[in-house]
Amino acid sequence: MGFEGKAAIITGAARGIGGEIAIALAKAGADIVLVDVLPQEEIDAAAKEIEATGVRTLALKADVTSMDQMNEVAAKTVETFGNISILINNAGITRDSLALRMTDEQWDLVIAVNLKGTFVATRAVMRQMMKQRAGKIVNIASIVGVMGNAGQANYSASKAGIIGLTKSMAKELAARNINVNAVAPGFIATAMTDHLADNVKEQMLAQIPLKRFGSVEDVSRAVKFLCSEDSAYVTGHVLHITGGMGM
Ligand code: NAP
Repeated sequence: MGFEGKAAIITGAARGIGGEIAIALAKAGADIVLVDVLPQEEIDAAAKEIEATGVRTLALKADVTSMDQMNEVAAKTVETFGNISILINNAGITRDSLALRMTDEQWDLVIAVNLKGTFVATRAVMRQMMKQRAGKIVNIASIVGVMGNAGQANYSASKAGIIGLTKSMAKELAARNINVNAVAPGFIATAMTDHLADNVKEQMLAQIPLKRFGSVEDVSRAVKFLCSEDSAYVTGHVLHITGGMGM
């Protein structure tokens, strides 16, 4: 599939969308570096599942908001696999509240993990990718970064920021043959969306033309395309994976 010998760093990889992206890239032949803040045992367990596909893994507990920790992730990846071919900026959190009641902590934390974390991880890998004159970076944004969403001023601002960051990095890195794209998922069934009330889920479903929630596989398939040579001439793009919501 063209991914053999390529190392892919995936943040927030121990579960959810990141976990499925890790499996999809591993099945395509990539070596996988799982980065997460969950307990080391949980990251190790996810890595074990991936190793069953026959590829090599590194399971690293690291926080995307820390430049030092992400530099270490990049260094260990190069030391182990000799390259960083793919970065998936997937780690993300929500701290929902109407703006009237939103605390500074809720605002700062979501911007720090989602937006700054994406920049930090990108900065950690870009020197190596520039040296290689090859690389694929895929940022996981969200459709609410395009449409906005009541109760998610912090989250939607972070995801809109990721879209601007994606386009700027695509322009900065294009000369070195590094593609930088984003995906904007709609409602995907994961731990992040599990806790929503049934009436909220029903309201969301009513806005989706394809009349179903997305699966983690819907996202991983699109991300795999953006990491492959099939998308060699695509950069700075934001691919909506929403079942038509928000078009
Ligand atoms: P998830 O199940 O909560 O997985 C996210 C993972 O990232 C968790 O393991 C989380 O650990 C980890 N993480 C959080 N903060 C981190 C940090 N500072 N450094 C490293 N890892 C960190 O979420 P998901 O639904 O799979 O979402 C993945 C991405 O897709 C996110 O960026 C999200 O915004 C985006 N997205 C999701 C949906 C959806 O409907 N699910 C829609 C659009 C976009 P903890 O559990 O300890 O926080």
